Amino acid sequence: MSYDRLVLAAGSQLARPTVPGLAEHAFDVDQIEAAVRLENHIKSLKNRPYSAARNTVVVAGGGFTGIETGTEMPARLRAVLDGDQDVRVIIIDRAPQIGATMGAGIRASIIEASEHLGVEWVVNATVAAVDANGVPLADGRHIESQTVVWTVGFRASPLTEQMNSTRDAQGRLHVDENLKVFGQDNVYAAGDVAYAATDDLGNFAAMSCQHAISLGRYAGNNVAADLLGVAPTPYRQPKYVTCLDLGVWGAVYTEGWDRQLKLVKEEAKELKTQINTQWIYPPAADRATALAAADPMIPVA
Ligand SMILES: Cc1cc2nc3c(=O)[nH]c(=O)nc-3n(C[C@H](O)[C@H](O)[C@H](O)COP(=O)(O)OP(=O)(O)OC[C@H]3O[C@@H](n4cnc5c(N)ncnc54)[C@H](O)[C@@H]3O)c2cc1C
Repeated sequence: MSYDRLVLAAGSQLARPTVPGLAEHAFDVDQIEAAVRLENHIKSLKNRPYSAARNTVVVAGGGFTGIETGTEMPARLRAVLDGDQDVRVIIIDRAPQIGATMGAGIRASIIEASEHLGVEWVVNATVAAVDANGVPLADGRHIESQTVVWTVGFRASPLTEQMNSTRDAQGRLHVDENLKVFGQDNVYAAGDVAYAATDDLGNFAAMSCQHAISLGRYAGNNVAADLLGVAPTPYRQPKYVTCLDLGVWGAVYTEGWDRQLKLVKEEAKELKTQINTQWIYPPAADRATALAAADPMIPVA
């Protein structure tokens, strides 16, 4: 199909490096189909004979996805394995500290939640491969598990590689303040494919729905403005928050790029549930509602 203007908004995918056995033996939660496959596998564990490996889930990667997946797992495993209480959930991370990329404000909550839930961390460790019985680590250790979940890193859609433009380390296209791709006259980028400045202080949009929703509004507005010959609205999103789910312990909510702690446990969980069950859904398929929801001037609550 030909176009006058293009908005590239093809999202990102889980990075799948050439780790031996990854494709054959690891699960992930990147797409809904993959998450369902993991859920079905966990439900099927009760039909397998008892072993330490059956009762152990290994989560490779201790970033946002790894922490949310890991802290959810003890309750899921216990629900499936009925009386079996000796479940183990182990998060493996290369960094020297638990929650190293999360910032000091959140780290204490991650540690408290992990201890409360019985989630173990193996830090300073690199998953070297995934096999049918678990994961060999680069230092020679082997952790036995029949459920390995890979959560390490994301990459922007490979479509970005077709643009003759600058990209960041995750493959995102550098865009100007109107979200037009540098070096391209007719191409805009939004969401996980866009490397966009959120303010004049040196902060850039994260690969998050928080930024993707707003970037989509601006890109849609500006591509239409471009066609109509009216002034674009420069993208600005100075407010940055994080809300990290921590299983039945609760959640943690922070504000600011330095992640100042604002809510913990039940209060943060309530907000997280609201985000997951209401905020992230697109507006109803009704012209007036959809257009109202697409307004880039909607204040960030
Ligand atoms: C497990 C997980 C948990 C997350 N949790 C959070 C969270 O708590 N908070 C948060 O802010 N963010 C979270 N994120 C990140 C968030 O989901 C993404 O940042 C957001 O979805 C990006 O939006 P997007 O529109 O750019 O891309 P997507 O939502 O990925 O949408 C891209 C769309 O493009 C389609 N597409 C791709 N390629 C093509 C093609 N070639 N042709 C046609 N269509 C194509 C895809 O099918 C998809 O529908 C999470 C992500 C994951 C994987």
